Amino acid sequence: MIDTKPFVESLNDKPVAVYGLGLSGFSAAKALIKSGAKVFAWDDDEERRYMAAQAGIEISSFDDLDFHHFSILVLSPGVALHFPAPHMVVQKAREAGLEIVCDIEIFHRCKTGVKTIGITGTNGKSTTTALIHHVLTQSGVNNVMGGNIGRPVLDLDIRPHKTLAVFELSSYQLDLCPSFRPDISVLLNLTPDHLDRHGSMEAYISAKEIIFEGDGVALCSIDDEQTKNVYDRTVKAGFRRVYALSVHKTPLQGVFVHDGYLYDHLGTDEKEIGSVGNIQTLLGVHNLQNIVAAYAACKIFGLASDEILEHIKTYPGLAHRQYLTRIINGIAYVNDSKATNMDATSKALACYNNIYLIAGGRAKEGGLSGIESFADKISHVFLIGEAMDDFARQIEKFGIRHTKSQSLDVAVLEAHKMAQSKRGEPGSAPTVLLSPACASWDQFKNFEHRGDVFTSLVNSLSEDVASS
Ligand code: ADP
Repeated sequence: MIDTKPFVESLNDKPVAVYGLGLSGFSAAKALIKSGAKVFAWDDDEERRYMAAQAGIEISSFDDLDFHHFSILVLSPGVALHFPAPHMVVQKAREAGLEIVCDIEIFHRCKTGVKTIGITGTNGKSTTTALIHHVLTQSGVNNVMGGNIGRPVLDLDIRPHKTLAVFELSSYQLDLCPSFRPDISVLLNLTPDHLDRHGSMEAYISAKEIIFEGDGVALCSIDDEQTKNVYDRTVKAGFRRVYALSVHKTPLQGVFVHDGYLYDHLGTDEKEIGSVGNIQTLLGVHNLQNIVAAYAACKIFGLASDEILEHIKTYPGLAHRQYLTRIINGIAYVNDSKATNMDATSKALACYNNIYLIAGGRAKEGGLSGIESFADKISHVFLIGEAMDDFARQIEKFGIRHTKSQSLDVAVLEAHKMAQSKRGEPGSAPTVLLSPACASWDQFKNFEHRGDVFTSLVNSLSEDVASS
């Protein structure tokens, strides 16, 4: 746990309000109490209040409290700061002139001396963060990973002498960091997302762009219009050393990929580093973007090019994101449960051929639209969940063969039997892919639960299909 005394001492004995007792709020409340702060905490969820009280956190409704008595508000990143309307607690804090922060800002104010790498963007944050952490760890660098991935940052153990923290930063968390800016900041991409919470694309971009304020290094993608604009503005601002990241050849100083090869142009000369086009745990153009960013961050930190490439190649993957669960008789079974919309599913479909796809659940807007461009890669679709009938109608139009399996256990078994029966036929080896293009809540607690069920079903399959 981080020693939060330096932060607590800056509060002049005034109590702290903690609103939202999810993982990060809970951890912040505990860390602050341990350092002697008086904490008032609340969560609308009764079970969370109960758990917090059991852990010694004082629970108190904020309805009748005068916020002028507080020093600061620690807010859960899940609570609306701007849109559709600022939460009542946010309004009260603003009226009382309080700063509103999250646990990452507190980490920063604890003056640990730890250098930070921060990763943000619309997609690929977790993968890039985990990849950087993996490369650093394999290279013997003492480092911790946290933020929007893994453990809350105030729970991290930075002893003995951890030199570096790698943080995944969502736009909500950045919104709650008035002064924290990473030493090495990475922006992967910017496409419309969470606009309901930020109000507009401009507000969403601004929330992410603050990662490049202040001193340090900026590693910025230039592959979409919005990130290119951010790149130009950051260069113009002149505060950070700025490098471009691209999955296309670029004359700009930075790191890029061309024809599946990684190039380093961080220094004066451009150097070919090696092939990255066919790493099984990082397939697809989207992952090339993540590789480019991870390479650049590790190189700027001081690792050698060969070492970085070697360790990128041993990245084990993240659960539920195109994760290779098992190979049975040469056929890959892939868990991409995190793909909760067609955009994410199309990223996975682009990576394989001869696909036995399991899709469905609670449909998102747009359903399976766009699947037609992968029709020749998809051998069969096994449909599950609420979206089953509607998805069946959508794909029938494109002549994509399908089965209404209804539930995941039936779908896994049917996909397994059909894929294994095609084994050895000419063409690409089959891949059984769970990439639902849907939310999971109709049949599962969340996408992790759905992926875990898939994993245990796949692990129970027999190599001898007749006995599965
Ligand atoms: P995040 O943490 O930003 O949600 P993840 O690394 O968890 O991103 O990846 C989630 C999904 O987003 C992946 O399954 C993949 O479909 C897609 N994805 C990953 N990296 C990228 C990228 N760089 N660009 C676009 N999509 C990506």
